[in-house]
Amino acid sequence: MKFDSKLPNTGTTIFTVMSALAAEYGAINLAQGFPSYSSSPKLINLVSRYMEKGYNQYAPMAGLPALRKILAEKYNRTHGISLDPDEEITVLAGATQGLFTAISTVIRPGDEVILIEPAYDSYRPSVEVNGGVPVVYETRPPDYRVNWADFGRLITPKTRMVIINTPHNPTGKTLDAADMAALANLLEGTDILVLSDEVYEHLIYDGRRHTGVLSHPGLRDRSFAVYSFGKTFHNTGWKIGYCIAPPLLTREFRKVHQFNVFSVNTPMQWALAEFLEDPEEYLQLPEFYRRKRDFFSNAMQESALKPLTCEGTYFQLFSYGHLSDEPDTGFARRLTIEYGVAAIPVSVFYSNGMDERIIRLCFAKDEEILAEGARRLARLG
Ligand code: PMP
Ligand code: GLN
Repeated sequence: MKFDSKLPNTGTTIFTVMSALAAEYGAINLAQGFPSYSSSPKLINLVSRYMEKGYNQYAPMAGLPALRKILAEKYNRTHGISLDPDEEITVLAGATQGLFTAISTVIRPGDEVILIEPAYDSYRPSVEVNGGVPVVYETRPPDYRVNWADFGRLITPKTRMVIINTPHNPTGKTLDAADMAALANLLEGTDILVLSDEVYEHLIYDGRRHTGVLSHPGLRDRSFAVYSFGKTFHNTGWKIGYCIAPPLLTREFRKVHQFNVFSVNTPMQWALAEFLEDPEEYLQLPEFYRRKRDFFSNAMQESALKPLTCEGTYFQLFSYGHLSDEPDTGFARRLTIEYGVAAIPVSVFYSNGMDERIIRLCFAKDEEILAEGARRLARLG
């Protein structure tokens, strides 16, 4: 049978590839972004309790009202934003689903979507499978800054959406109020929408405050903002998150959501709603991860790899161009096989494969694992 693939250039994600290689060679997996520790026992007990109490049938399509209500309170507390839980918040089966659903809600064949590269790997295929045309704005090391005037030159009458990600995977770069103002300014008077991936909203360091699309009125009115409990509460395998968007966009989003997910698992929604009653559970995260970042970068001083700045996320980039001119995919494989530490090559996040000889390591691991990873990498000479 002849099958004309809608995604002829899409292969297996690098996260699967490197995790499989790590398993094959028994390497420490600092490649795929997931914590080595589990969620709070309190949250796990809440899930079991709700299951035992019989909260096991379909949840409402948009998500449990109690969870949406406490999420609205969360943004009120942290950002002074008032959200309508019924009309502006939808519970997701993970951020990936929300990103895909938002793109499917908006993008028609031929619509242009501006991506900022390096870009998280789900964006491009999600645009392409809907017939959209990715248009790339490239950022470069060491600071991965967006020059918004240059970015603005990519806008055409066909531009339908812009995708941003802050704090940014893989670079650890964060956007600030000036970035939001510049983007809002570019989009003013257009019908261009923004999809903002903010799954690392609580993983932000050195006195920075998370500044996403909700913080700017001009962006909030035209944006889908996507979040992930997997990142926030150390349970990436639970695949649960939420999307915040103004009522008009939420209504359209739910038309698609109800037919590609319908609703998200019930006991976890009850458990998360109760767990979120204590804001400390998320307010302590920047300090928790700052300590890990600093522990790891300290341990890595023994290694010849050169760290770049990490403003947010649980990823630390390192450059190795002074050690080798091997392509980063080969270098990451070699680290896994010969040094026992799996890494992600950053070139895979550029559609043209731009290779600046940089790898990404994940520091969401127990200190013993980070110390052992750093000890192994200290052999790099
Ligand atoms: N966006 C970014 C930037 C991510 O790093 C990830 C996952 N690591 C996701 C989205 C997907 O989140 P989820 O696992 O909730 O689908
Ligand atoms: N987002 C995670 C990372 O960047 C991986 C998610 C996945 O494996 N799809 O490592």
